[in-house]
Amino acid sequence: MGQISVNRISKSWGSFAALESIDLEVREGEFLSILGPSGCGKSTLLRIIAGLEEPSGGEIHIAGRNVTRDPVWKRRIGFVFQNFALWPHLSVFRNISMGLELRGTPSAELRARVTEALAMVQLEALADRLPTQLSGGQQQRVALARAIVLKPDVLLLDEPLSALDKNLRQDMQVELKTLQQTLGLTTVFVTHDQEEALSLSDRVVVMNKGVIEQLDTPHAIYNSPVSEYVARFVGEAFFFRGQIENRGAIQCIRLAEDMVIPVEGAEQHVGRGVVAFVRPEWVTLDAPKAQEEQELPRGVVDRLMFFGQSSDYLIKFGDRQMRVKRRPDAPEFQAGDVVALRCQARLLPNEALAP
Ligand code: ATP
Repeated sequence: MGQISVNRISKSWGSFAALESIDLEVREGEFLSILGPSGCGKSTLLRIIAGLEEPSGGEIHIAGRNVTRDPVWKRRIGFVFQNFALWPHLSVFRNISMGLELRGTPSAELRARVTEALAMVQLEALADRLPTQLSGGQQQRVALARAIVLKPDVLLLDEPLSALDKNLRQDMQVELKTLQQTLGLTTVFVTHDQEEALSLSDRVVVMNKGVIEQLDTPHAIYNSPVSEYVARFVGEAFFFRGQIENRGAIQCIRLAEDMVIPVEGAEQHVGRGVVAFVRPEWVTLDAPKAQEEQELPRGVVDRLMFFGQSSDYLIKFGDRQMRVKRRPDAPEFQAGDVVALRCQARLLPNEALAP
C-alpha cells in the first residue's frame, strides 16, 4: 500500500460527476503532480485526500490508516493553498506556531520547531513581520513552513506557485523541490502548468473530466503519451492520421503519392489506421532536394518565432501549421522556403483508427 491510497473515489454534485472512481497510490517520499485543465477535478481530488471535501464514494488511506471519515486535523497532513491563506493579524512566527499551539506543544519544543521551520524556508530574519509586510514569495514560504512544522505524513499543495510571477515562481520551484527531498516528504502537487509538473515530479497524473488519463514518469508522459489528449496537454504535438504500410523494412504513414512519414514501433500495425505524432524538437528541416530521394514530407516556412534562448519555425504543412524547433547547427531558412521534414513519428496507443 502507498503512503496515500485513493480507492475508487468518486464525487458528484447533483447529477454532475466531478470524479469517477479514481484509484491512485502515492509512494512514500514521492513527489506526485496532478495535472490537467481547469475543471478536470484536480483540486477536488486533493481536497478529498485532505479531508476538506467529502467523497460520494470510495476510501482514502494515509500512512496505512483509513482516514476516510477523519476530519482534516486528524489526518496528519500539511496543506498549502494557492492564495497562501495566512492569518493577516498574526506575525510570521505565530502563523507558523499556531498549529503547534492548538496541539498544546510545550513552549521550548514549539520555539525550537518554529525556528527550525523558519530556517528551512530562509525566513529567520522576518519572524516578527506581519504577512502584509512580505512579498508574495515570502508569504508562500510562510505557508510552507506552517505546513511542515507539524511534521505531517504527507504534504498537499494546491497550485501553490501560480500567484507568483515567472522568475520568482522558478526560484520557488527549486526551493520547494529541495525542501521536499531534504525532508523526504510524500508530496501531492496540483497544477495546470505542464512544465512545472514535468520538472518537479517523480510521477505525473494527467486528468481529464474526472478520470485519470495517464499516470507515469514525466519522461514517459512526454515521450509516450497514451492519447491525443495527453500529447496535446503536455507539450506541443503535431498529429498524422493514416494507414501503416511497409516501405522496405520501415513502417510509414503515406501522406501523399510522394510523401511518407516513418512511424516508430509500428511493426504490429501494418494495414491498420493509426494516429501518430511528432514534437517540435524531433523534426529536422532539410533542403527540399532530399525530399525527392526519400519521399520526405515537405512544407513551407511561414515564419521564425524568436524567444530569446530558442526559436521555432512555423511551417505550413497542407492546411495545417506545424511548429519545429530551430537547431543552432542547422541551415537557416527564410519565410517562403520549401523545406523537407526529417523525423520519426510515434504512435498514440489508445487512438487507433478503424482498419
Ligand atoms: P481549476 O484548475 O480551475 O481549479 P480543477 O481541475 O481543480 O480546476 P475542481 O475545482 O476540482 O477543478 O472542480 C471540478 C469540477 O467540479 C468543476 O467542473 C467544478 O465546477 C465542479 N465543482 C467544484 N466544486 C463544486 C461545488 N461545490 N458544487 C458544484 N460543483 C463543483
